[in-house]
Amino acid sequence: MPVASIYIETHGCQMNEADSQYIADRAASAGYAVADRAEDANVVILNTCTVRDNAERRAYGRMGHFKSLKDADPARRLIVTGCLAEHDRDRMRRIAPHVDAIFGTSELAQLGDVITRWREEFSETDLTEERALRFPIGGSPDCVAGAFSRLRGFVTVQRGCSYYCTFCIVPHVRGRFDHRPMAEILSEAHQRVAEGAREIALVGQTVNAYLNPVGDGDFGALCSHVARIAGLERLSFISPHPKDFTREMLRELSQIPQLNPRIHLPLQSASDPMLRRMNRKYTFSQYMEKVSWIHEFFPQAAITTDFIVGFPGETEQDFQSTLDCVRSGIFANAYMFIYSKRRGTPAAHWEQVEPAVASERHARLAEAQNAVACAFHERKVRTEARALVQGVSKKDRSKLAAKTLDNVTVIVPQPPDYEERLYASEPWLDVRIDSAHKWGCGGTVVRRARRFADRGSAVKTPLISLLTA
Ligand code: SF4
Repeated sequence: MPVASIYIETHGCQMNEADSQYIADRAASAGYAVADRAEDANVVILNTCTVRDNAERRAYGRMGHFKSLKDADPARRLIVTGCLAEHDRDRMRRIAPHVDAIFGTSELAQLGDVITRWREEFSETDLTEERALRFPIGGSPDCVAGAFSRLRGFVTVQRGCSYYCTFCIVPHVRGRFDHRPMAEILSEAHQRVAEGAREIALVGQTVNAYLNPVGDGDFGALCSHVARIAGLERLSFISPHPKDFTREMLRELSQIPQLNPRIHLPLQSASDPMLRRMNRKYTFSQYMEKVSWIHEFFPQAAITTDFIVGFPGETEQDFQSTLDCVRSGIFANAYMFIYSKRRGTPAAHWEQVEPAVASERHARLAEAQNAVACAFHERKVRTEARALVQGVSKKDRSKLAAKTLDNVTVIVPQPPDYEERLYASEPWLDVRIDSAHKWGCGGTVVRRARRFADRGSAVKTPLISLLTA
């Protein structure tokens, strides 16, 4: 192995993506190149999620896969971090003894120290700064890889959550709210912009509950301060809690010109008895009041949401309320999950909905939301949208993926002048939307721009589009 390299595989939410970005930064400053494939790496890092049972099974499956790589090269090191590492440390030590080190979500600094120490054991690197920047996060299923990875900078504003929804493992794994000082968040956001971020995504489990622990400032104030960073082009955040949006906060956010017009507002269920059992701290009508405020202050906003289907005690009538809500067409997109029992949470001890019933409800809900999402995407056809390039499409390497400001995925054929470095420095694409699908839109790049405010320069139409026009 000619260079000391590290592979970081990230599963789960944006909190984990932000943590992986931190690990990649520590690794780069310790002198590692970041590898695209675990096979090529001296150190493999698995950043895990435990929010659902299948995420946990997948993490153990990946640990099994990495064991074969360690068997092939016993000098290779394997680290597991993330929520599963925090929650399941003892069992992990027993059933995956080949893992060299386990770090919880609050131990990232120690993880950075360990990889820095290990770096000296590996052969001298031929790492150049250019390579470190080109491959900051390698091979992750959920992260954007390559030169595009720095265009969107994730900045964590808080850790943990104190709300204890009865299905959720987060407070048990990540602990209660621990808000970062505002000055620290601003300094990290500054750094990300200096490194090339065009968009800052503020992430937290309940991001809009943010309160500066040293001095004044709530989430609205934090966003206003971040928006003043010179060179920042767009701002987004995930995930807010419906309970924590006030009219005043939404009014303040609406004054921020860079704020992306997409608000993800997890509903989980439209039935009040279910919301009570989930300990969500709002009723359906209170949720809808927040939706009306969002429409008032952000007339162009796309609202997206999360649903849990088959939560313990969910009756057909409860489910019907959720289905009716989805059919009303208020959500541009929704992430829908079948309830998954998590050890240590109250709902895991309650009488469960039959799996077949839960699956059937999930299918009905997905069908309804897919129709709504398709109609939302259909309204974009024959319009032009500005989108931030994400990278080469995972499904078709001849195409690029980009995200519109309202977070719709747009897949476009690579323009004839496509070159990663060029498109990373001129990452704003004006895309003519040609087709609508349940997952997003298909289109053609017509212009690309260096800055969001620029008009951009024309891009040659790919031959395939000319043929199909
Ligand atoms: S608000 Fe509820 S679902 Fe969200 S992280 Fe906190 S406990 Fe979990």
